[in-house]
Formats: sequence, structure tokens, C-alpha cells
Amino acid sequence: MQGLMMQQPLLVASLLMHAERHHGEQEIVSCRVEGDVHRYRYRDLAQRARRMANVLASLGIAPGERVGTLAWNGYRHMELYFAVSGSGAVLHTLNPRLHIDQLSYIIEHAEDRVVFFDMTFLPLIERIAARVTSPKVFVAMTDRANMPQAFSHSSTLMCYEDLIDLHGDAFEWPLLDENSASSLCYTSGTTGNPKGVLYSHRSTVLHTYAAALPDSLNCSARDVILPVVPMFHVNAWGLPYIACMVGAKLVLPGPALDGKSLYRLIETEQVTLSAGVPTVWQGLLSHVAEQGGSFSSMRRTLIGGAPCPTAMTVEFQERYHVDVLHAWGMTELSPVGTVCSFKMHQTTLACHARYALQAKQGRSVFGIDMKIAGPDGEELPWDGHATGDLFVRGHWVTRQYFGGDDAPPLRDGWFPTGDVAKIDSDGFMQITDRSKDVIKSGGEWISSVDIENAACLHPHVAMAVCIAARHPKWDERPLLLISTRPGSTLTGDELLAFFDDKIAKWWKPDAVIFVDSVPLGATGKVLKHQLRERYANYYVSA
Ligand code: AMP
Repeated sequence: MQGLMMQQPLLVASLLMHAERHHGEQEIVSCRVEGDVHRYRYRDLAQRARRMANVLASLGIAPGERVGTLAWNGYRHMELYFAVSGSGAVLHTLNPRLHIDQLSYIIEHAEDRVVFFDMTFLPLIERIAARVTSPKVFVAMTDRANMPQAFSHSSTLMCYEDLIDLHGDAFEWPLLDENSASSLCYTSGTTGNPKGVLYSHRSTVLHTYAAALPDSLNCSARDVILPVVPMFHVNAWGLPYIACMVGAKLVLPGPALDGKSLYRLIETEQVTLSAGVPTVWQGLLSHVAEQGGSFSSMRRTLIGGAPCPTAMTVEFQERYHVDVLHAWGMTELSPVGTVCSFKMHQTTLACHARYALQAKQGRSVFGIDMKIAGPDGEELPWDGHATGDLFVRGHWVTRQYFGGDDAPPLRDGWFPTGDVAKIDSDGFMQITDRSKDVIKSGGEWISSVDIENAACLHPHVAMAVCIAARHPKWDERPLLLISTRPGSTLTGDELLAFFDDKIAKWWKPDAVIFVDSVPLGATGKVLKHQLRERYANYYVSA
């Protein structure tokens, strides 16, 4: 027998419609790249998003076509989030920290029709425009007064505010299939080219429901939310959607993510919940400690993307009375997978036991199922000791990368995360290692294989192995081990200079170590885990 309930598709635009109708007065505050602070309300967001939807129609953007954004966290980016997805096109957020080769590849691969960009990125856009063929139109997310005098490329350059002014706000959000694509984010894990994760309206709305729950990100209409995590990185962990769903005040920090700027923003806007990677919080904590300051409003901070060090949890909680929510997720998971929030019986744990618990990445939110498996795929027990490959499945987990040129990642219906973990009897997962060969520095990926390949282009290099080593500020930094050809006089500095036009500047290893040999396994593969163990603290103790 069929249920007799209404069939309303789960759509991104409905989040905005809800915010406009029920929280129209709630504020959105943005630090603009122009240097000032902009304020408006959800009803203004909704109205301008409808205007932008008309702009997209006038540019001939058809349902399913991709619209790129290269932008910080700000209100215009929010407008695009809803205008693009809401009108049936696909919002493709581009990560400006990627190397220009990767960015150009991604834009071409996604066949972006238009790219919207913040003025900070004008020089980058000019270089990209000279390389790519797909977008013919670039839109500067600014007003006429701040438009560049000239655009060095023959592609069309348009002005965001001019376009908005040209169009009215009469627009009916179409009733889309909830399984149609809403946004696209590339992840540059492991080897080869970045891979696109294509979210659907349904997966996005379900993720929003689950991520807002009290034991997840714990968001409400009484919150002032500061997503420091960028809107170009997995949709700022879903916070733009969550804020609309719950009607929270939203504070968007723009490009200034240093401790001083963030602290000022947190205090002036009375932020209650912030979200970001550990590196960002390190900058904030150092600044506040130097000032002898305190947090007058912040109650919780969501820390993820990399392991949250216990010292950071202790400092936030004991010195500043800000609760830490340690969370784990991935681009492929929209991103929230687990959050470390206490169960009833854990609230009375002794202090040291609570901190040990908070070092774990947490338990699954409803909608995500997880398991750990041994080398032969056998499922391992949740006993807090057995360690294996972490697999997930659920409503907002990808099943196939965009474009279909990669083999489907799933194994027996489960997504292999590339993380290695153990799970305790309460269901708290703790990441212990990583099987994927990448380095996560300040929350962004560096491909060790790309660095090795670049090193091997040098005629004096016989073998190159790049590994992640712990770093006090960036969590991890690349460390390069090199063996050279006989007679070579190559120095570390020469090799680093050789990388100049080959990899992004911030990808350059912090150190090069010359070795005679590296440990090899039975099949001749470098035993990287041995090297990772040996050199784990190279930068910490250096
Ligand atoms: P991304 O797709 O860029 O969001 O990166 C996802 C990956 O970041 C995960 O597979 C983990 O390797 C790592 N990661 C995310 N959150 C955490 C965390 N809390 N602790 C440790 N690693 C994390």
C-alpha cells in the first residue's frame, strides 16, 4: 500500500523560499573584497537571487549547464548559490588555491558556460581566460565603479551589479526533479586529475536537515553563524543552506581570514557558532591570547577537515568556554559524515576521558552508515582497537564522479574514503591513518604524486618520494625524499627552484632530504607508511 502523503521534491530553492517567508528580517553580513562591510536581510537575498536567475536566463544558461564561481564567502556568492541551483543549472564552485593548470582543467572539464569571480581573482581569471575555451563570459562580482578598466582577453567581461539592475525580481523557481544536479565541487585527492562530485537537490536538502540537528552542527534561529570554511570548499560544509533552513544570522568573512580580522568580526557581529579547519583557529587563538581577549558570544566552534589537536580543544573549552565540535567529512559526502557530540552517559566522564573522546572524529549522523574493513574486505568489529579502511554509504554520498571518465568508486555499494580508522563500541570513529597518497595542508590538498612527478623531471633525480609530515601550523606539509643520479651536485634549493613553473607555490615541500635508498615492498612499491612513520615529526622537532 502506498502512503498518502504529498510528494514535494526536495529542492535547494525551497530553502531560500523558507528563509524569505519565515526569516525575511534575519541579517546576512558580508565583508566585501571592496573593503567595507555589507548588510542586508534574507528577503533581500531572495529578491536578488530571483533577479540573478533572470540574468542567467538572459545569458541563455539552460537547465543542467554549469556556472562557475571563483569567490570568497560573501552575499553575492550566496545569491549565486540559490540563483544557479534554483533555476536548474549547476553551481560549480572553483577553488582559487589550485594551480592554474588544475583550475583550467576543471573549468574545461565541467564545461562551465559562465564564470563569476570576485575582483581579487581578476589577474587569475585573465590568465585562465587565455587558456580555456569553454566559458565565453566572465562576470566580475562587483559594481560599475569597481570594474576593471580593461580585460586583456577577448572573452566578454560583464558587471554583476549592472546585470542585476537590468533584471526584475519576478521569477518562479521551477519545480525540478529532486534528483537533478544542483552543484559541483572538484576534489583533488590522490592521483590524476581532480574529480568532480555532483550533488543533487535531494542530497543537498537531506544533508541540510541532518547537518543542522542538535547532535550535528546544532544550528538554530538564535545562532549567528560564521563559516570561515570557504564556500568554494564543499559548499562551506553546507552552512549557507543550513542558515536558510534554520533562519540563523549569517556572517560571511570575505577574504580576510587572519586571526585579527576574524576576532573583530566574531565580537562585532556576536557570532555564536563558527566553522573552519584547525589552521584557521590556530591563527585566531594566537591573536586572542596576545590580546588577552575573550569571546563574549561564541559558544561553539566546528573544527574539521583535519584532525583537531587536543591542545586546541582544551584551549577553546577551558580558557574561552567555547565548546569544540570535532567533525569529519569529505567532498564526496557533501561533506558531513561524523560529528563528535557526547552521548548521555559520556557527559559525566572525567576531564581526561572527555578530551580523549573529543580527539575522535565522532559518530555518524543519521543518513550516513559507516564500516571498517580489513585487507580482504572483511568487516572489522567496533571494539576501539581493530583498525581498517573506512567505508561509508548514505543519502549524500557520491556514487560516481562527474564526467564518467573515472571508474565508479563504490565497492559493494560502499564508498571507500581512503581514510583508515577504528570505531569504538559507542560508534565513535577515530581516523588513525590515510591510505590515499595525499597531503592536507591548512585544509587543502597537495598531491604527493604530482610533486614526485615534477621532481623526476629534473635530470639529476633518480627517485623521488613525497610524504606528509606533521606541521605545527599547517597540520601537514610535504617532505621530499630524493635520491640523485651518480655524480649529481643537485642541492635542495636548486630542486625547489626547479618547481617554480611546475606546481603551485604553496605545494613546494618545506624540506628536501637526500637519501641513498627508500624502503620497497615485495612488488617494488615504496613503503610510504614506513617513511611517514619515520619522518612524521620532522617539522615538529626541526
Ligand atoms: P575534503 O574532501 O577536501 O573535504 O577532504 C576530506 C578528507 O579530509 C577526509 O577523507 C580526511 O582524510 C580528511 N579529514 C576531514 N576531516 C577530518 C578530521 N576531522 N580529522 C582527520 N582528517 C579529516
